[in-house]
Amino acid sequence: MHPFTLERAGDLSAAIALGAHAGRNDAAIEYIAGGTDMVQLLQENVRRPARIVALAGLLDRDIDLRDDRLRIGAGSTMAEVAAHPQVATDFPLIADALLNSASPQVRNQATIGGNLLQRTRCPYFRDVGYAQCNKRTPGSGCAAIGGENRWHAVLGTSNACIAAHASDLAVALVALDATLEVRGPGRQRRVALADFHRLPGSTPHVETVLDVGEVITAVDIPRRATARQCSYVKVRDRASFEFAIVSAAVVLQMDGDRIGQARIALGGVGTKPWRGPRVEAALRGARIDAATIRPAAALASQGARGYGHNDFKIELMQRAIVRAVETAGART
Ligand SMILES: Cc1cc2nc3c(=O)[nH]c(=O)nc-3n(C[C@H](O)[C@H](O)[C@H](O)COP(=O)(O)OP(=O)(O)OC[C@H]3O[C@@H](n4cnc5c(N)ncnc54)[C@H](O)[C@@H]3O)c2cc1C
Ligand code: SF4
Repeated sequence: MHPFTLERAGDLSAAIALGAHAGRNDAAIEYIAGGTDMVQLLQENVRRPARIVALAGLLDRDIDLRDDRLRIGAGSTMAEVAAHPQVATDFPLIADALLNSASPQVRNQATIGGNLLQRTRCPYFRDVGYAQCNKRTPGSGCAAIGGENRWHAVLGTSNACIAAHASDLAVALVALDATLEVRGPGRQRRVALADFHRLPGSTPHVETVLDVGEVITAVDIPRRATARQCSYVKVRDRASFEFAIVSAAVVLQMDGDRIGQARIALGGVGTKPWRGPRVEAALRGARIDAATIRPAAALASQGARGYGHNDFKIELMQRAIVRAVETAGART
């Protein structure tokens, strides 16, 4: 592991002031919250910061259900949010996505902000033994294109990077139209989660719209009566402690026996959490039966591109949507 200095600030403003110095020397300073992802990357020499600023104890941990929204402090752990009684009853999609993530030990330590900023599980990114990785070393190439790419994305890819986004929670939150509160040196702002992660394009090392020194302070989710009629379907290689091969988050607003409005997001298939507006439009007014849902689900694959080992995801994502819509429709 590359040696680094751990900086502990007295409050969040002081931590942000320290983090803002990162711009002067590229990735010389990084933040750490629960450390469940960052420590792995440090141990494997994937990240080599000179200084790390600790956010533990400085971030808001409140989980606050208001009339119009749920607000989750970015320092809340995954376990705290999943176990919160009002999240479980009013936003079961969030609880489902979290409880289908990682393990109880990881969820006890990992924060919500850190979850949304976890790095990809692309094995070439996480192993410095592979020289080619544009995300880790810009301009070096991509070992996954033409390599082993079973876990990789089929939507939003570029010639520079095909890494899949890893967070389950982000998929559920995108389906719920969540917004992030972001704080940096001298300013606070709000960013729709759907616009927060960037497509890789020619700069896959730039993953979000965060500016130097900015931290996520909270997640806001609009409160809608419909948030209960939802489903998170996660397909993975083993039943627990595993990332998604494909996942589908669905929220339905029923109008009698027909779908009034559907909100759909996909995981495991996109280079960022992937919203499915075409599927949503096709489901409007439809009854929940396989004959209707299946053609609508097929629209999710428009523009998808397989890279060999991951071709199966194009069919699998459609099946995951069908199952998630059926499950959400059966939920009261
Ligand atoms: C064995 C294992 C299995 C896992 N399985 C899953 C899974 O199935 N599904 C899933 O979604 N995740 C899974 N994860 C990932 C896990 O959820 C993340 O590691 C965790 O959520 C990261 O949170 P953290 O607080 O530990 O972040 P850290 O490791 O501390 O930080 C992660 C990144 O976020 C940045 N950061 C953290 N907080 C903030 C903030 N508030 N503002 C700005 N930057 C910040 C850090 O600088 C760093 O770049 C798994 C992890 C492990 C170790
Ligand atoms: S897919 Fe992206 S993260 Fe993986 S090797 Fe290629 S450039 Fe690196």
